[in-house]
Formats: sequence, structure tokens, C-alpha cells
Amino acid sequence: MDLIFFGMQGAGKGTIGEAVAERYGHKIFETGAELRRLAQEDSELGRKVKSIIDKGKLVPNKVVMEIVEDFMNKLSPDKEVLFDGIPRSVKQAKTLNSLLDKHDRDYIAVLIKIVEETALKRLTTRRICKNCKEVYPADYKKETCEKCGGELITRADDNVEAIQTRIDAYKKETLPAIELYKDKLITIDGEPSIEEVKKLAFEVLDPILKD
Ligand code: AMP
Repeated sequence: MDLIFFGMQGAGKGTIGEAVAERYGHKIFETGAELRRLAQEDSELGRKVKSIIDKGKLVPNKVVMEIVEDFMNKLSPDKEVLFDGIPRSVKQAKTLNSLLDKHDRDYIAVLIKIVEETALKRLTTRRICKNCKEVYPADYKKETCEKCGGELITRADDNVEAIQTRIDAYKKETLPAIELYKDKLITIDGEPSIEEVKKLAFEVLDPILKD
């Protein structure tokens, strides 16, 4: 069963998604990471995507959906997927759902829920590893990554203006998309510590996904 992961920026969606994917053997498809890779390319499209991401705006549907479609076409039918960062709008949800149907894939949606105040606090204080992109909250005091020793930096789009733009886009575009999944939606409280949220996620997902 595929998983469609939702959560306001800073909800811990990426971190919880990684733990969930590892526990149940899912492959992660993360549009933010795919687009950041594209943004590093020295091409007109690469530069355009970079400028959109740095402002916190949404990349045009056509670009995103081409990446998703390509991924789905290459996907083995017996590999389960965790979608992180897609869909971000009703339009993307409709396209993704028709791709999932076309490929005969079953899915549920998972929402890691936090309030806007928590999102702002977490995003303005978090750092990421320049090298492996591991995310570190404010209470991690070291200057280097625990996993690879890389330098810790602030993500280019983790400035107050871009954060607010991303949160506004989430409220305006993504919340209505989540509504479309309300019959297959599992909501998990994202306010406690990461370890606690992981525990909550495993508790609800184990009965559904553990063989
Ligand atoms: P994220 O890492 O999920 O916070 O995504 C970083 C940025 O990538 C977003 O602020 C958008 O600019 C872009 N992005 C990621 N996923 C999508 C998507 N599904 N549709 C449009 N833009 C996206």
C-alpha cells in the first residue's frame, strides 16, 4: 500500500516519512528533493526552478507532474512508495490519483498535524547538512552533521518571508487537496518530540502495513 504524506512545513513530515519508509520497506519519492536537484542544473529550467524554490513559491504543475510521471513509469509494481511533498494542490491530487489508478496502486494518506506557530518556530531555527541534507532542530548544538560530518547550514528557503509564503501556499492550496483524501486519511499529532511522533505513527500504521 502506497502512502501519501501530508504536513505543514516543519511538521517533521520528512523525518517521520524516513522512519516509516524504513520500517515498512517503502521507497521515498520526495518532490522537494527532486526539484532541488533539478535547481542545481546549469540550464534555463534549473535556474527558473531555483528562483521559484528560493522564494517559497510552488513550481509549475507541468514540471512537477512530468517528474512524477517519469518516476511512476519506471516503478516496479511490487515496490511500495511513500509520496512526500506531492500533491500540493487539488490539481496535483487529481493527476496523482489518476496516475495511481492507472498503475493499479492502492494508497492511504497520512497527515502529520501541527499548528502554524509550531511550524514558524521550527523552520526559523532548524539547520540542514549541506552534504546529506539531514535536518537538525534548534536543540542540536553541534556545528557538523552526526551522519556524515558535513557542515550545517540554513536552507535557502528557510527565511521568514519564504517560510510565510510556503505556509500560505499550504493553507490555500494543500489543505483543500487533503480534503479529497478524507475517507482514507490517518491523522497523527506532530506537536510532540520526533521520537514520540514516530511512536504514534508506528502505532497506527503497524496494523495496516505490517505483514
Ligand atoms: P519541500 O522540501 O517539500 O519543502 O519543498 C521545497 C520547495 O520545492 C517548495 O517550497 C516548492 O517550491 C517546491 N515543491 C516541492 N514539491 C512541490 C510540488 N508538489 N509542487 C510544486 N512545488 C513543489
